[in-house]
Amino acid sequence: MNQHKFDLGAQLPPGVDYPEIPLDGSFSFQCQGCGDCCRKRSDIVLSGYDLYRICCRLALPPQMVIHAFCQSYIGSSTHLPVVRLRPRRDNGNCPFLTAESSCAIHSHKPLVCALYPLGQSIDFDAGTDPSNPADRRRAIHYFAQDTGCSGHSITLSLREYLDSFSILEREELDLRWARDCIALSSRVKALEKRLRPIEIKYLHRKIERALYLDYDFRQDFAPQYDRNIEQLEETLCKLEGDQSVRKGYHL
Ligand code: SF4
Ligand code: SF4
Repeated sequence: MNQHKFDLGAQLPPGVDYPEIPLDGSFSFQCQGCGDCCRKRSDIVLSGYDLYRICCRLALPPQMVIHAFCQSYIGSSTHLPVVRLRPRRDNGNCPFLTAESSCAIHSHKPLVCALYPLGQSIDFDAGTDPSNPADRRRAIHYFAQDTGCSGHSITLSLREYLDSFSILEREELDLRWARDCIALSSRVKALEKRLRPIEIKYLHRKIERALYLDYDFRQDFAPQYDRNIEQLEETLCKLEGDQSVRKGYHL
């Protein structure tokens, strides 16, 4: 099993051309429905919203879903807490792959799975306001991945495909998440240079709670995300500006 711990986000490999598919364009791929793209996978990294949606599907709180199906660790590149689906010990398959090779959380599967065989790239210089649809269109691009598979040739409209998994509806949240994580990552790296190990652990825990844990699946995600990011900002500002906070934190 691949033990590499994948981090949030990923850089596209250099030297490979990934032509953008226009929103009103189409894309083609071949598939025989074997389910192999859900086998031996250790790279299904979840956003906070991905985890929240799985919690909604299973009617379980985030802590329990993580305990049962995920692994959390600190990303080596971002230095942020990362949650990924934990491959099964016996066969390395995704824990949600059924014996019939279908996805047990199909309607609530993570973004990376809902997109496949598409990929999504974000240009952080192109669109600055996630709540602005025009900015989102400039910032978020979709491209086809080479599955290397044979089988039926399938051609689909990009817009219809994205709509079928409500991906366009969640773009604002996904763009905010990506931007927030990049900003957080650089602040955490700067703080790590001057905080003690126990304080760094405290900070990681605070971030994990804000990004993944402090959510009630019975309530809307966005207001909870706003609240958590606001509270995290207070913690970061204190750690960045006031070393006296060292006396008052709790793990
Ligand atoms: S994309 Fe490929 S690996 Fe995945 S189900 Fe289709 S044929 Fe199988
Ligand atoms: S969540 Fe579903 S689609 Fe994604 S890897 Fe697991 S079984 Fe496959």
